[in-house]
Amino acid sequence: MNYEKHITVLGSTGSIGTQALDMASFSDYQVDALAFGSNIRLGEEQIRKFKPKYVAVSHETSAKDLKIAVADTNTKVFSGKDAVCEMLEYLHSDVCINAISGFNGLRPTLSAIEKFPRIGLANKETIVAAGEIVMQKAKEKACEIIPVDSEHSAIFQCLEGNRGKTIRRILLTCSGGPFFSKTLEQMQNVTVADALGHPTWRMGAKITIDSATLMNKGLELIEAMHLFAVSPEKIEIIIHRESIIHSMVEYNDRAVIAQLGVSDMRLPIQYAVTYPEREISPCEPLDFTKLGKLTFFSPDRPNFPLLSLAENVAAKGGILPCVMNAANEEAVGLFLQEKIRFTEISDLVSETVNGYINIDHPTLAEIETANISARKLVRNKII
Ligand code: NDP
Ligand code: MG
Repeated sequence: MNYEKHITVLGSTGSIGTQALDMASFSDYQVDALAFGSNIRLGEEQIRKFKPKYVAVSHETSAKDLKIAVADTNTKVFSGKDAVCEMLEYLHSDVCINAISGFNGLRPTLSAIEKFPRIGLANKETIVAAGEIVMQKAKEKACEIIPVDSEHSAIFQCLEGNRGKTIRRILLTCSGGPFFSKTLEQMQNVTVADALGHPTWRMGAKITIDSATLMNKGLELIEAMHLFAVSPEKIEIIIHRESIIHSMVEYNDRAVIAQLGVSDMRLPIQYAVTYPEREISPCEPLDFTKLGKLTFFSPDRPNFPLLSLAENVAAKGGILPCVMNAANEEAVGLFLQEKIRFTEISDLVSETVNGYINIDHPTLAEIETANISARKLVRNKII
């Protein structure tokens, strides 16, 4: 078969990864390589279906078991914590979709920039923690970073044909999450199951909790600053409960361009692969007559303090976005393990960020050190 596009999917067993593979089936993309952490049951299924040349599994024991399970295939398995970067050395796909969750996606992004003409970037933590370094390196290597995050894909689409024109504002939309209109007091005793009940999107656990605290929007603010080279004052966050408008750009003449669609991540994933073309998609069409109302509100900063924290951190820059991201990953992990309350996430992240001395233009080594030390600070606070 003559495949049009070759793709590599990092984080293939996750929410975005499985949808990326769904798109690969739908559009007949050749899947050159996969990477995941430890879900070898699903990983084996993916290997048998997509027949990739290479697979990287970061969890050593899982990799060992997988090697035995797929010994009858032609897929080479890389294992261990550096497996993804080692595997990327061998690859030349058209697009690398990075849908690894968390800071662990950073090194793979940097390796992919060296080898691929394009990255479809879902892993927002990469840009939050090391935006300057990543964007600079992508420029040097002429690697296109096409956002997969739905809001950033929307902004990217709203900028098309208008690049270089004066942007007045970027309007970054936010669903408000499951606790929209609740007070901090009402959120004291919410459970993990309550926080995982996102109203409009089905996603991995970490980003779903971030959507409940509104930290996700804070991370997205920093992501947008780097991806589109705009200052934080030009980005306005608007609650839009229905998640139909995925974001907007307002130009100097007050024209506002929006991108709309059903809540289906396959659309931005596909666009990151096909850009600047648009191909047939399996997504449902938007039926305006069934939409009813589209509603908009200002975010409730006093009851969702992580949003203001992220706005401050975005304005200060330096090492603080990395520290905030690391503290948040750790605190969300502790909440998911039921070791802290929901409202303690914001306390722990705020205390960690506020106690940190900033470093301007941090190096990669400084970023990696801060990622470890901020997590340690969070863990020490709960002992
Ligand atoms: P999931 O938790 O569902 O999936 C994460 C994936 O990353 C899994 O395949 C996991 O493997 C893999 N993984 C984790 N650590 C490593 C590692 N060290 N090496 C290799 N693979 C690893 O997350 P999501 O798909 O929800 O999110 C992925 C990224 O996309 C996040 O950065 C998120 O913020 C972003 N995003 C997600 C959206 C969504 O709709 N889900 C929307 C917008 C952005 P395994 O499970 O096998 O261990
Ligand atoms: Mg998003």
